[in-house]
Amino acid sequence: MASHSFYLKQSEIGPMENFVYLVGDAGTREVFVVDPAWQVDTIIRTAKEEDLKIVGALISHYHFDHTNGIEELLQYRDCPVYVNKKDVPYLGISHDNIKAVDEGHIVKAGDVEIRMVHTPGHTPGSQCFHVRGHLISGDTLFIGACGRTDLPGGDPKELYYSLTQKLTKFSDDTILCPGHNYAEKPMTTMGSEKKTNPYLLCDSLQNFMRFRTGVAESR
Ligand SMILES: [Zn+2]
Repeated sequence: MASHSFYLKQSEIGPMENFVYLVGDAGTREVFVVDPAWQVDTIIRTAKEEDLKIVGALISHYHFDHTNGIEELLQYRDCPVYVNKKDVPYLGISHDNIKAVDEGHIVKAGDVEIRMVHTPGHTPGSQCFHVRGHLISGDTLFIGACGRTDLPGGDPKELYYSLTQKLTKFSDDTILCPGHNYAEKPMTTMGSEKKTNPYLLCDSLQNFMRFRTGVAESR
């Protein structure tokens, strides 16, 4: 029964090909917005058209193209905004509704549980959202690529361990829902990425470092 009630909608919004997600319970119509940014009015209109109630926001990481709609969303609805505690200092928003969370934190939209998976590397507090066989991955993992590590707080070693120790543990049938529309298709499976994504195929930290940063590790 419960499996019938999952809701997920992916929308491309803004000038940087961002994917914003509405995710939650199709029965109770309660959803979270993942990465409210750019045209918040469009996000709110979509929710209204689909008879959805936004009960909170989930933030994959602090970068402005994923967060520049938080304050506008909060003007519309007094709801919690979940940010990994390590990205809170970078976010630059001081508001009672910002909730600092850690690995494994679970929120519920209706009967649908959403689990936070801390995946540092693109930023210190990057997190993915695991919900009903889907992994909403922000800028940690893209289809055929991964996040850059040259912005404040980025760390290629951490990203390597997040990708190879955490994300490759998800089953092959997990649906990967990335934070940008950078590929030919909007979603894929983890099984496909494990076979084809060059960053997941790097067999050592050294190779990953060389590939990701363009330079060999300096040590
Ligand atoms: Zn980013």
